[in-house]
Amino acid sequence: MKQKDNKTSKLSVDELTSYAKRRGFVFQASEIYGGLSGFWDYGPYGVELINNLKQAWWKTFVYNNFNIFGLDSAIIQNPKLWEASGHVAGFVDPMIDCKKCQHRFRADHVAGTESANLKELETAILDKACPQCDAKGAFTKPRQFNMMLTTHVGPAEDDATLTYLRPETAGSIYTNYENVRETVRGKIPFGIAQIGKAFRNEITPRDFLFRTRELEQMEMQYFINPNTSKKEYEQWREYTWKFLTEVVGLNKSNMSWHQHGEGEKAHYASAAHDVYYNFPHGNKELAGIHDRSSYDLKSHSKASGKDLSYFDDSTNKRYVPHVIESSMGVGRLFIAALTEAYTVEQVNGEERIVLKLKPQLAPVKVAILPLSKKLELSKLAKSIFTDVAGEYNVEYDETQSIGKRYRRQDEIGTPYCVTIDFDSIQDQAVTLRERDTMGQERIKISELKACLAKKLAS
Ligand code: ATP
Repeated sequence: MKQKDNKTSKLSVDELTSYAKRRGFVFQASEIYGGLSGFWDYGPYGVELINNLKQAWWKTFVYNNFNIFGLDSAIIQNPKLWEASGHVAGFVDPMIDCKKCQHRFRADHVAGTESANLKELETAILDKACPQCDAKGAFTKPRQFNMMLTTHVGPAEDDATLTYLRPETAGSIYTNYENVRETVRGKIPFGIAQIGKAFRNEITPRDFLFRTRELEQMEMQYFINPNTSKKEYEQWREYTWKFLTEVVGLNKSNMSWHQHGEGEKAHYASAAHDVYYNFPHGNKELAGIHDRSSYDLKSHSKASGKDLSYFDDSTNKRYVPHVIESSMGVGRLFIAALTEAYTVEQVNGEERIVLKLKPQLAPVKVAILPLSKKLELSKLAKSIFTDVAGEYNVEYDETQSIGKRYRRQDEIGTPYCVTIDFDSIQDQAVTLRERDTMGQERIKISELKACLAKKLAS
Protein backbone atom coordinates (compact mmCIF):
# COMPACT_ATOMS: atom_id res chain seq x y z
CA MET A 1 0.00 0.00 0.00
CA LYS A 2 1.22 3.47 -0.88
CA GLN A 3 1.79 5.79 1.99
CA LYS A 4 1.70 9.55 1.63
CA ASP A 5 2.42 10.70 5.14
CA ASN A 6 1.89 9.67 8.71
CA LYS A 7 -1.82 10.28 8.59
CA THR A 8 -3.47 9.51 5.32
CA SER A 9 -2.84 7.08 2.55
CA LYS A 10 -4.33 7.51 -0.88
CA LEU A 11 -5.50 4.21 -2.30
CA SER A 12 -5.75 3.09 -5.87
CA VAL A 13 -9.11 1.68 -7.05
CA ASP A 14 -7.68 -1.85 -7.00
CA GLU A 15 -6.33 -1.41 -3.49
CA LEU A 16 -9.65 -0.05 -2.29
CA THR A 17 -11.56 -2.90 -3.97
CA SER A 18 -9.35 -5.59 -2.46
CA TYR A 19 -9.39 -3.96 1.00
CA ALA A 20 -13.20 -3.75 0.83
CA LYS A 21 -13.38 -7.45 -0.03
CA ARG A 22 -10.73 -8.59 2.47
CA ARG A 23 -12.46 -6.78 5.30
CA GLY A 24 -16.01 -7.85 4.42
CA PHE A 25 -17.36 -4.55 3.08
CA VAL A 26 -18.14 -5.36 -0.56
CA PHE A 27 -18.11 -8.51 -2.69
CA GLN A 28 -18.58 -8.92 -6.41
CA ALA A 29 -22.20 -9.97 -7.11
CA SER A 30 -22.44 -13.71 -7.97
CA GLU A 31 -18.66 -13.94 -7.68
CA ILE A 32 -18.58 -17.77 -7.78
CA TYR A 33 -20.11 -17.57 -11.29
CA GLY A 34 -17.59 -15.01 -12.48
CA GLY A 35 -19.54 -11.96 -11.31
CA LEU A 36 -21.73 -9.63 -13.34
CA SER A 37 -20.27 -6.36 -14.51
CA GLY A 38 -21.76 -3.37 -12.69
CA PHE A 39 -23.30 -5.26 -9.75
CA TRP A 40 -21.95 -5.57 -6.20
CA ASP A 41 -23.02 -7.09 -2.87
CA TYR A 42 -22.45 -5.46 0.49
CA GLY A 43 -20.98 -7.75 3.16
CA PRO A 44 -21.37 -7.65 6.97
CA TYR A 45 -19.45 -4.39 7.48
CA GLY A 46 -20.58 -2.83 4.20
CA VAL A 47 -24.25 -3.18 5.04
CA GLU A 48 -23.65 -1.47 8.40
CA LEU A 49 -21.70 1.41 6.84
CA ILE A 50 -24.21 1.90 4.06
CA ASN A 51 -27.13 1.86 6.52
CA ASN A 52 -25.35 4.39 8.72
CA LEU A 53 -24.72 6.68 5.74
CA LYS A 54 -28.35 6.47 4.66
CA GLN A 55 -29.55 7.11 8.20
CA ALA A 56 -27.25 10.14 8.50
CA TRP A 57 -28.63 11.53 5.22
CA TRP A 58 -32.23 10.87 6.28
CA LYS A 59 -31.70 12.59 9.64
CA THR A 60 -30.04 15.58 7.97
CA PHE A 61 -32.51 16.03 5.14
CA VAL A 62 -35.80 14.75 6.61
CA TYR A 63 -35.68 14.92 10.42
CA ASN A 64 -33.84 18.26 10.58
CA ASN A 65 -36.40 20.04 8.41
CA PHE A 66 -40.00 20.48 9.51
CA ASN A 67 -41.15 20.71 5.89
CA ILE A 68 -39.40 17.72 4.29
CA PHE A 69 -41.26 14.40 4.15
CA GLY A 70 -40.22 10.86 3.24
CA LEU A 71 -41.35 8.55 0.45
CA ASP A 72 -40.56 4.98 -0.58
CA SER A 73 -42.02 4.24 -3.97
CA ALA A 74 -42.02 1.25 -6.32
CA ILE A 75 -39.02 0.57 -8.56
CA ILE A 76 -41.32 -0.28 -11.45
CA GLN A 77 -43.85 2.37 -12.39
CA ASN A 78 -46.25 2.91 -15.27
CA PRO A 79 -43.99 3.40 -18.33
CA LYS A 80 -45.93 6.58 -19.13
CA LEU A 81 -44.01 8.19 -16.24
CA TRP A 82 -40.70 7.72 -18.09
CA GLU A 83 -42.17 8.91 -21.38
CA ALA A 84 -43.42 12.11 -19.75
CA SER A 85 -40.17 12.66 -17.83
CA GLY A 86 -38.21 12.57 -21.07
CA HIS A 87 -36.17 9.49 -20.15
CA VAL A 88 -37.53 7.26 -22.93
CA ALA A 89 -36.41 9.78 -25.53
CA GLY A 90 -33.52 11.48 -23.82
CA PHE A 91 -31.81 9.35 -21.15
CA VAL A 92 -28.98 8.47 -23.46
CA ASP A 93 -25.22 8.28 -23.44
CA PRO A 94 -23.07 8.52 -26.57
CA MET A 95 -21.66 5.11 -27.44
CA ILE A 96 -18.84 4.00 -29.76
CA ASP A 97 -17.42 0.60 -30.67
CA CYS A 98 -13.85 -0.23 -31.55
CA LYS A 99 -14.04 -2.01 -34.91
CA LYS A 100 -10.82 -3.87 -34.17
CA CYS A 101 -11.39 -5.36 -30.70
CA GLN A 102 -15.21 -4.93 -30.60
CA HIS A 103 -15.09 -3.25 -27.18
CA ARG A 104 -17.73 -0.67 -26.45
CA PHE A 105 -17.06 2.70 -24.81
CA ARG A 106 -18.69 5.95 -23.80
CA ALA A 107 -17.64 8.43 -26.46
CA ASP A 108 -17.37 11.32 -23.98
CA HIS A 109 -15.06 9.26 -21.73
CA VAL A 110 -12.75 8.38 -24.62
CA ALA A 111 -12.84 11.97 -25.89
CA GLY A 112 -12.10 13.30 -22.39
CA THR A 113 -14.88 15.87 -22.67
CA GLU A 114 -18.18 16.50 -20.92
CA SER A 115 -19.89 17.30 -24.21
CA ALA A 116 -22.92 15.26 -25.27
CA ASN A 117 -22.95 16.63 -28.83
CA LEU A 118 -22.45 13.76 -31.32
CA LYS A 119 -20.73 15.89 -33.98
CA GLU A 120 -18.30 17.37 -31.45
CA LEU A 121 -17.57 13.92 -30.09
CA GLU A 122 -16.97 12.49 -33.54
CA THR A 123 -14.26 15.09 -34.11
CA ALA A 124 -12.82 14.71 -30.62
CA ILE A 125 -12.28 10.92 -30.90
CA LEU A 126 -10.62 11.07 -34.34
CA ASP A 127 -7.06 10.99 -33.00
CA LYS A 128 -7.81 8.92 -29.87
CA ALA A 129 -6.53 5.38 -29.43
CA CYS A 130 -8.81 2.56 -28.28
CA PRO A 131 -8.37 2.23 -24.47
CA GLN A 132 -8.54 -1.57 -24.87
CA CYS A 133 -6.39 -2.46 -27.93
CA ASP A 134 -4.67 0.86 -28.68
CA ALA A 135 -5.87 0.90 -32.31
CA LYS A 136 -6.20 4.38 -33.84
CA GLY A 137 -9.01 5.54 -36.12
CA ALA A 138 -10.97 2.33 -35.44
CA PHE A 139 -14.02 3.78 -33.73
CA THR A 140 -17.53 3.71 -35.13
CA LYS A 141 -19.42 7.01 -35.27
CA PRO A 142 -20.89 7.96 -31.87
CA ARG A 143 -24.56 7.03 -31.51
CA GLN A 144 -27.04 7.45 -28.70
CA PHE A 145 -27.71 4.52 -26.38
CA ASN A 146 -30.69 4.55 -23.98
CA MET A 147 -29.57 3.58 -20.51
CA MET A 148 -32.87 2.41 -19.07
CA LEU A 149 -33.09 -1.29 -18.20
CA THR A 150 -36.31 -2.83 -19.45
CA THR A 151 -38.51 -5.62 -18.23
CA HIS A 152 -41.99 -7.00 -18.91
CA VAL A 153 -44.79 -6.93 -16.40
CA GLY A 154 -47.31 -9.72 -16.86
CA PRO A 155 -47.15 -13.03 -18.70
CA ALA A 156 -46.74 -11.75 -22.27
CA GLU A 157 -43.52 -10.26 -23.61
CA ASP A 158 -44.75 -7.65 -26.05
CA ASP A 159 -44.78 -3.86 -26.39
CA ALA A 160 -47.87 -3.60 -24.22
CA THR A 161 -46.12 -5.13 -21.21
CA LEU A 162 -42.77 -3.40 -21.70
CA THR A 163 -41.68 -1.27 -18.79
CA TYR A 164 -38.54 0.05 -17.11
CA LEU A 165 -36.57 -0.30 -13.92
CA ARG A 166 -36.46 3.28 -12.67
CA PRO A 167 -33.32 5.16 -13.74
CA GLU A 168 -33.62 7.62 -10.83
CA THR A 169 -35.70 7.89 -7.68
CA ALA A 170 -36.92 11.42 -8.46
CA GLY A 171 -39.58 10.41 -11.04
CA SER A 172 -42.05 8.95 -8.57
CA ILE A 173 -41.55 11.90 -6.24
CA TYR A 174 -43.18 14.11 -8.90
CA THR A 175 -46.04 11.69 -9.52
CA ASN A 176 -46.67 11.58 -5.74
CA TYR A 177 -46.26 15.33 -5.29
CA GLU A 178 -49.98 16.01 -4.96
CA ASN A 179 -50.61 12.95 -2.74
CA VAL A 180 -47.91 14.03 -0.31
CA ARG A 181 -48.87 17.72 -0.40
CA GLU A 182 -52.47 16.88 0.41
CA THR A 183 -51.75 14.41 3.21
CA VAL A 184 -49.19 16.57 5.02
CA ARG A 185 -51.14 19.76 4.15
CA GLY A 186 -47.86 21.04 2.70
CA LYS A 187 -47.36 24.64 1.79
CA ILE A 188 -44.72 25.75 -0.67
CA PRO A 189 -41.82 25.54 0.02
CA PHE A 190 -41.71 21.90 1.07
CA GLY A 191 -39.67 18.87 0.07
CA ILE A 192 -40.01 15.13 -0.54
CA ALA A 193 -37.06 12.82 0.09
CA GLN A 194 -36.47 9.28 -1.04
CA ILE A 195 -33.67 6.73 -0.72
CA GLY A 196 -33.82 3.78 -3.08
CA LYS A 197 -32.42 1.65 -5.85
CA ALA A 198 -32.19 2.83 -9.43
CA PHE A 199 -30.89 1.04 -12.53
CA ARG A 200 -28.84 2.29 -15.46
CA ASN A 201 -27.54 0.13 -18.25
CA GLU A 202 -24.16 1.88 -18.14
CA ILE A 203 -22.09 1.24 -21.28
CA THR A 204 -18.91 0.74 -19.28
CA PRO A 205 -19.47 0.12 -15.58
CA ARG A 206 -16.15 0.68 -13.83
CA ASP A 207 -14.18 2.05 -10.92
CA PHE A 208 -15.67 -0.22 -8.26
CA LEU A 209 -18.89 1.27 -6.85
CA PHE A 210 -18.49 4.51 -8.77
CA ARG A 211 -20.26 3.47 -11.96
CA THR A 212 -22.61 0.54 -11.44
CA ARG A 213 -25.70 -0.69 -13.22
CA GLU A 214 -27.66 -1.17 -10.01
CA LEU A 215 -27.20 1.88 -7.79
CA GLU A 216 -28.84 3.50 -4.84
CA GLN A 217 -29.70 7.16 -4.70
CA MET A 218 -30.61 9.63 -1.98
CA GLU A 219 -32.68 12.38 -3.53
CA MET A 220 -34.56 15.33 -2.12
CA GLN A 221 -36.84 17.41 -4.33
CA TYR A 222 -37.74 20.83 -2.92
CA PHE A 223 -40.89 22.43 -4.38
CA ILE A 224 -40.66 26.21 -4.45
CA ASN A 225 -42.13 29.46 -5.68
CA PRO A 226 -40.31 30.20 -9.00
CA ASN A 227 -39.32 33.66 -7.68
CA THR A 228 -37.14 32.07 -5.01
CA SER A 229 -35.23 29.65 -7.20
CA LYS A 230 -31.83 31.41 -7.09
CA LYS A 231 -31.87 31.73 -3.31
CA GLU A 232 -33.09 28.14 -2.76
CA TYR A 233 -30.56 26.76 -5.23
CA GLU A 234 -27.69 28.38 -3.31
CA GLN A 235 -29.15 27.24 0.01
CA TRP A 236 -29.36 23.57 -1.05
CA ARG A 237 -25.87 23.70 -2.48
CA GLU A 238 -24.60 24.86 0.89
CA TYR A 239 -26.74 22.37 2.82
CA THR A 240 -25.52 19.43 0.73
CA TRP A 241 -21.90 20.57 1.09
CA LYS A 242 -22.33 20.79 4.89
CA PHE A 243 -23.80 17.29 5.03
CA LEU A 244 -20.77 15.91 3.19
CA THR A 245 -18.16 17.79 5.22
CA GLU A 246 -19.70 18.00 8.70
CA VAL A 247 -21.86 14.88 8.93
CA VAL A 248 -19.91 12.43 6.77
CA GLY A 249 -16.56 14.06 7.57
CA LEU A 250 -15.19 14.47 4.04
CA ASN A 251 -12.29 16.87 3.90
CA LYS A 252 -12.94 20.13 2.04
CA SER A 253 -9.52 19.86 0.42
CA ASN A 254 -10.77 16.72 -1.40
CA MET A 255 -13.92 18.42 -2.67
CA SER A 256 -14.79 21.02 -5.27
CA TRP A 257 -17.72 22.44 -7.22
CA HIS A 258 -18.18 21.81 -10.90
CA GLN A 259 -20.76 23.86 -12.78
CA HIS A 260 -22.39 22.19 -15.79
CA GLY A 261 -21.88 23.89 -19.13
CA GLU A 262 -24.70 24.15 -21.68
CA GLY A 263 -23.81 20.92 -23.53
CA GLU A 264 -23.51 18.93 -20.32
CA LYS A 265 -26.78 19.63 -18.52
CA ALA A 266 -29.36 16.84 -18.20
CA HIS A 267 -32.49 17.22 -20.32
CA TYR A 268 -34.47 18.51 -17.33
CA ALA A 269 -31.97 20.90 -15.74
CA SER A 270 -31.88 24.67 -16.07
CA ALA A 271 -28.85 24.98 -13.74
CA ALA A 272 -26.63 22.29 -12.34
CA HIS A 273 -23.63 22.03 -10.02
CA ASP A 274 -21.87 18.82 -9.10
CA VAL A 275 -19.85 18.21 -5.98
CA TYR A 276 -16.64 16.56 -7.11
CA TYR A 277 -14.66 14.33 -4.77
CA ASN A 278 -11.07 13.30 -5.13
CA PHE A 279 -11.82 9.57 -5.61
CA PRO A 280 -9.00 7.01 -5.99
CA HIS A 281 -9.60 7.08 -9.77
CA GLY A 282 -9.73 10.87 -10.01
CA ASN A 283 -11.69 13.99 -9.30
CA LYS A 284 -15.29 13.00 -10.17
CA GLU A 285 -18.97 13.63 -9.43
CA LEU A 286 -20.21 12.60 -6.02
CA ALA A 287 -23.45 14.59 -5.79
CA GLY A 288 -25.53 16.95 -7.87
CA ILE A 289 -27.68 20.00 -7.17
CA HIS A 290 -30.07 20.78 -9.99
CA ASP A 291 -32.57 23.50 -10.68
CA ARG A 292 -35.19 21.46 -12.56
CA SER A 293 -37.46 24.49 -13.05
CA SER A 294 -41.11 23.46 -13.58
CA TYR A 295 -40.05 20.85 -16.16
CA ASP A 296 -41.20 17.74 -14.30
CA LEU A 297 -44.51 18.91 -12.85
CA LYS A 298 -45.47 20.50 -16.17
CA SER A 299 -44.57 17.38 -18.15
CA HIS A 300 -46.55 15.12 -15.81
CA SER A 301 -49.49 17.52 -15.76
CA LYS A 302 -49.58 17.51 -19.53
CA ALA A 303 -49.20 13.76 -19.97
CA SER A 304 -51.54 12.66 -17.17
CA GLY A 305 -54.14 15.41 -17.48
CA LYS A 306 -53.89 16.05 -13.72
CA ASP A 307 -53.48 19.68 -12.71
CA LEU A 308 -50.31 19.93 -10.59
CA SER A 309 -50.35 23.68 -10.17
CA TYR A 310 -50.36 25.26 -6.72
CA PHE A 311 -52.60 27.95 -5.32
CA ASP A 312 -50.69 30.30 -3.05
CA ASP A 313 -53.27 31.67 -0.61
CA SER A 314 -50.90 34.34 0.69
CA THR A 315 -50.73 36.00 -2.75
CA ASN A 316 -53.90 34.56 -4.29
CA LYS A 317 -51.81 33.41 -7.22
CA ARG A 318 -51.59 30.04 -8.95
CA TYR A 319 -48.33 28.70 -10.37
CA VAL A 320 -46.53 25.48 -11.16
CA PRO A 321 -43.81 25.06 -8.50
CA HIS A 322 -40.17 24.88 -9.49
CA VAL A 323 -37.99 22.12 -8.11
CA ILE A 324 -34.51 22.23 -6.62
CA GLU A 325 -32.98 18.79 -6.35
CA SER A 326 -30.18 17.51 -4.11
CA SER A 327 -29.11 14.10 -5.31
CA MET A 328 -26.29 11.71 -4.48
CA GLY A 329 -25.35 8.10 -5.01
CA VAL A 330 -25.00 5.95 -1.91
CA GLY A 331 -22.24 3.82 -3.49
CA ARG A 332 -20.21 6.88 -4.42
CA LEU A 333 -20.62 8.27 -0.91
CA PHE A 334 -19.58 4.87 0.45
CA ILE A 335 -16.25 4.90 -1.42
CA ALA A 336 -15.67 8.57 -0.60
CA ALA A 337 -16.18 7.82 3.12
CA LEU A 338 -13.86 4.79 2.95
CA THR A 339 -11.17 6.67 1.00
CA GLU A 340 -11.33 9.61 3.39
CA ALA A 341 -11.15 7.47 6.54
CA TYR A 342 -8.50 4.99 5.36
CA THR A 343 -5.30 5.84 7.21
CA VAL A 344 -1.92 4.19 7.48
CA GLU A 345 0.16 4.96 10.55
CA GLN A 346 3.54 3.83 11.78
CA VAL A 347 3.34 2.42 15.30
CA ASN A 348 6.57 1.16 16.90
CA GLY A 349 8.05 0.57 13.47
CA GLU A 350 4.98 -1.34 12.27
CA GLU A 351 2.26 -0.32 9.88
CA ARG A 352 -1.18 0.20 11.40
CA ILE A 353 -4.16 0.51 9.04
CA VAL A 354 -7.00 2.33 10.75
CA LEU A 355 -10.34 3.40 9.36
CA LYS A 356 -10.96 6.74 11.02
CA LEU A 357 -14.69 6.89 10.38
CA LYS A 358 -16.84 9.04 12.58
CA PRO A 359 -18.20 6.76 15.37
CA GLN A 360 -21.78 7.32 14.10
CA LEU A 361 -20.78 5.82 10.74
CA ALA A 362 -18.58 2.98 12.02
CA PRO A 363 -19.92 -0.49 11.07
CA VAL A 364 -19.11 -1.93 14.51
CA LYS A 365 -19.30 0.43 17.49
CA VAL A 366 -17.84 -1.84 20.16
CA ALA A 367 -15.84 -5.08 20.07
CA ILE A 368 -15.93 -7.38 23.09
CA LEU A 369 -12.62 -9.25 23.31
CA PRO A 370 -11.94 -11.82 26.05
CA LEU A 371 -8.20 -12.28 26.41
CA SER A 372 -8.53 -16.07 26.28
CA LYS A 373 -11.12 -18.65 25.33
CA LYS A 374 -11.10 -20.07 28.85
CA LEU A 375 -14.62 -20.79 30.02
CA GLU A 376 -14.77 -18.35 32.92
CA LEU A 377 -13.55 -15.48 30.72
CA SER A 378 -15.84 -16.18 27.78
CA LYS A 379 -18.77 -16.56 30.18
CA LEU A 380 -18.09 -13.10 31.64
CA ALA A 381 -17.41 -11.61 28.18
CA LYS A 382 -20.65 -13.03 26.78
CA SER A 383 -22.64 -11.58 29.66
CA ILE A 384 -21.02 -8.19 28.94
CA PHE A 385 -21.94 -8.59 25.25
CA THR A 386 -25.58 -9.28 26.19
CA ASP A 387 -25.59 -6.24 28.45
CA VAL A 388 -24.12 -3.84 25.87
CA ALA A 389 -25.66 -5.22 22.64
CA GLY A 390 -29.01 -4.29 21.15
CA GLU A 391 -28.81 -0.53 20.62
CA TYR A 392 -25.97 -0.69 18.12
CA ASN A 393 -23.74 -3.20 16.38
CA VAL A 394 -21.46 -4.97 18.86
CA GLU A 395 -19.02 -7.70 17.82
CA TYR A 396 -17.79 -10.60 19.94
CA ASP A 397 -14.40 -12.07 19.02
CA GLU A 398 -12.26 -14.51 20.98
CA THR A 399 -9.94 -15.91 18.30
CA GLN A 400 -6.29 -14.91 17.64
CA SER A 401 -3.91 -12.82 19.74
CA ILE A 402 -5.27 -9.63 21.25
CA GLY A 403 -2.86 -7.53 19.13
CA LYS A 404 -4.21 -9.05 15.92
CA ARG A 405 -7.78 -8.56 17.07
CA TYR A 406 -7.11 -4.87 17.82
CA ARG A 407 -5.62 -4.41 14.34
CA ARG A 408 -8.60 -6.12 12.73
CA GLN A 409 -11.00 -3.83 14.58
CA ASP A 410 -8.86 -0.80 13.62
CA GLU A 411 -9.11 -1.80 9.96
CA ILE A 412 -12.91 -1.90 10.04
CA GLY A 413 -13.06 1.32 12.05
CA THR A 414 -14.40 0.10 15.43
CA PRO A 415 -14.13 3.09 17.80
CA TYR A 416 -13.99 1.06 21.05
CA CYS A 417 -12.63 -2.32 22.09
CA VAL A 418 -13.46 -3.84 25.46
CA THR A 419 -10.90 -6.36 26.71
CA ILE A 420 -11.80 -8.84 29.43
CA ASP A 421 -8.76 -10.31 31.23
CA PHE A 422 -8.23 -12.63 34.21
CA ASP A 423 -8.26 -9.67 36.63
CA SER A 424 -11.74 -8.82 35.37
CA ILE A 425 -13.21 -11.73 37.30
CA GLN A 426 -11.78 -10.38 40.57
CA ASP A 427 -12.07 -6.60 40.12
CA GLN A 428 -15.21 -6.65 37.92
CA ALA A 429 -13.53 -4.16 35.57
CA VAL A 430 -12.46 -4.23 31.91
CA THR A 431 -10.04 -2.33 29.67
CA LEU A 432 -11.54 0.13 27.22
CA ARG A 433 -9.34 0.91 24.22
CA GLU A 434 -9.95 3.87 21.93
CA ARG A 435 -9.28 3.38 18.20
CA ASP A 436 -7.57 6.61 17.17
CA THR A 437 -5.35 7.29 20.23
CA MET A 438 -4.99 3.60 21.21
CA GLY A 439 -5.36 4.96 24.77
CA GLN A 440 -6.60 2.47 27.38
CA GLU A 441 -8.57 2.95 30.58
CA ARG A 442 -9.96 0.62 33.20
CA ILE A 443 -13.75 0.77 33.60
CA LYS A 444 -16.06 -0.95 36.10
CA ILE A 445 -18.30 -3.46 34.32
CA SER A 446 -21.32 -1.94 36.08
CA GLU A 447 -20.50 1.44 34.46
CA LEU A 448 -19.51 0.18 31.00
CA LYS A 449 -22.86 0.43 29.21
CA ALA A 450 -23.50 4.03 30.29
CA CYS A 451 -19.87 5.00 29.61
CA LEU A 452 -20.02 3.61 26.04
CA ALA A 453 -23.38 5.23 25.35
CA LYS A 454 -21.95 8.59 26.45
CA LYS A 455 -18.78 8.22 24.38
CA LEU A 456 -20.65 7.10 21.27
CA ALA A 457 -23.15 9.95 21.54
CA SER A 458 -20.46 12.64 21.68
P1 ATP B 1 -22.53 10.63 -14.28
O1 ATP B 1 -22.37 11.93 -15.04
O2 ATP B 1 -21.34 10.30 -13.42
O3 ATP B 1 -22.99 9.49 -15.12
P2 ATP B 1 -25.09 11.66 -13.58
O4 ATP B 1 -24.83 13.13 -13.66
O5 ATP B 1 -25.79 10.97 -14.70
O6 ATP B 1 -23.72 10.87 -13.22
P3 ATP B 1 -27.33 11.91 -11.85
O7 ATP B 1 -28.31 11.47 -12.84
O8 ATP B 1 -27.27 13.37 -11.47
O9 ATP B 1 -25.86 11.39 -12.23
O10 ATP B 1 -27.55 11.03 -10.54
C1 ATP B 1 -27.41 11.52 -9.23
C2 ATP B 1 -26.31 10.81 -8.47
O11 ATP B 1 -26.43 9.38 -8.60
C3 ATP B 1 -24.91 11.11 -9.00
O12 ATP B 1 -24.41 12.30 -8.44
C4 ATP B 1 -24.12 9.90 -8.53
O13 ATP B 1 -23.68 10.05 -7.18
C5 ATP B 1 -25.14 8.79 -8.59
N1 ATP B 1 -24.96 7.95 -9.79
C6 ATP B 1 -25.37 8.23 -11.05
N2 ATP B 1 -25.06 7.24 -11.91
C7 ATP B 1 -24.44 6.29 -11.16
C8 ATP B 1 -23.90 5.00 -11.44
N3 ATP B 1 -23.96 4.48 -12.66
N4 ATP B 1 -23.34 4.30 -10.44
C9 ATP B 1 -23.28 4.79 -9.19
N5 ATP B 1 -23.79 6.00 -8.85
C10 ATP B 1 -24.36 6.74 -9.81
